[in-house]
Amino acid sequence: MNGRTAAIVSILFVAFMACDGEAGGDVATPSDASSTPETRQADADAEVGPTDPYPAAARAALANLDASYFQSQLLVLADDAMLGRQNQTEGGQAARDHIIAQLQSLGVQPAGDNGGFEQVFAEGTNVLGIVPGTDPALADEFVLVSAHYDHLGTSIDGRGQCAAIGNDAICNGASDNASGVAGVLALVDALNSSTTGLKRSLLIVFWDAEEDGLLGSTHYVAVAPLVPLANLAAMFSVDIVGTRIIPGVEAAFGLGMDYSQGIRDVLHAVNAELGTQVYPVSMNFSGGDGGRSDHKPFQEAGVPVVFFGAGSSPVYHTAADNPEVVELELAMMLMRHVVLVTAELANGADRPSYVDGPSPHIDDAYALRDMGEAILADPSAVGLEDPLFVGLIEGWVGELQDWIDSPPSTPAEEEEYGQFVRSILDAVYAFL
Ligand SMILES: [Zn+2]
Repeated sequence: MNGRTAAIVSILFVAFMACDGEAGGDVATPSDASSTPETRQADADAEVGPTDPYPAAARAALANLDASYFQSQLLVLADDAMLGRQNQTEGGQAARDHIIAQLQSLGVQPAGDNGGFEQVFAEGTNVLGIVPGTDPALADEFVLVSAHYDHLGTSIDGRGQCAAIGNDAICNGASDNASGVAGVLALVDALNSSTTGLKRSLLIVFWDAEEDGLLGSTHYVAVAPLVPLANLAAMFSVDIVGTRIIPGVEAAFGLGMDYSQGIRDVLHAVNAELGTQVYPVSMNFSGGDGGRSDHKPFQEAGVPVVFFGAGSSPVYHTAADNPEVVELELAMMLMRHVVLVTAELANGADRPSYVDGPSPHIDDAYALRDMGEAILADPSAVGLEDPLFVGLIEGWVGELQDWIDSPPSTPAEEEEYGQFVRSILDAVYAFL
């Protein structure tokens, strides 16, 4: 066991031991019927149905989500010609020009400075466009759908963010985040195909300088919001699409569900409708203070947010993040969810509301249990074949199952459960 492995073991051990004991009791008790996946699916079926033309149109649009368009955009944006899309470089400009040309061909209206698509700030340039809503009473409310288009540049651009691998001196950022940009463009293309349109407007944004510390989104929120933040029904950041956080896992994540009321149910319903899983999870899943993508400044400003992503793959932030790491079917799986959630929120009578100081939700336990089971199915695939790791993860999965079988029902239990979930995630991020 090397030093790094020993450190990981001790972290996992501490995480596990920290909340060992009374979590839901050692004996599984009968589930609260309202919390099982089966009954949640039934609830979801009841909640979503093409009862008016707008949902029907959204579902028709889903059929037009064009995988080949997504792939073509991914290949262009992750090409060496884009030089790693570093902000304030020729490569960043080339990526921006390409994105703007796509928005124009998709019929998106410019929403940047001086009648154009660009919103310039000190460290870069965001790209903003609008798809107007069709309901006069709701068209001044927006669902903001976004992805950052910048990445780490090259090993010779003097910025020091990209390390060469052999002769490969360009960090193409195919998964991070050419995939998200391609996904949002494909979403616009699909929703555009609806003749009914959406009731609320869409604000489509491609952020710059995310990799330098969320600078584009922070500028937008703090200095230059196009419309009052209160007019945003929701804000989505699509960041890293089509990768696998753990080999064998085809699911993705919708982070930040804890900070809004109303989006979680929509995502559950969409999961049930599509039969594939995007886990609705809390901001804790993005590590540390949850500030790892452009949703963060919006969440801090009280806007309901979701960070849609598949999670970092082993090539994250390396020169090996090339197009082949993005699996087309997995990317389309996540984007189908984003398209339907966008359509639901753009059409729903009620808007999500912001939740300040959220309580831990049992959905986190489902996601962590399933990730743990995926690791246990082939521990060597993630380098955790040491029996000590396997035993710790088995214990962790068992305790999560206890919480699922007997969800926290008092403030004290919620506190204990929340600490347990956070301790696991802290251990995972220490490991990453
Ligand atoms: Zn990213």
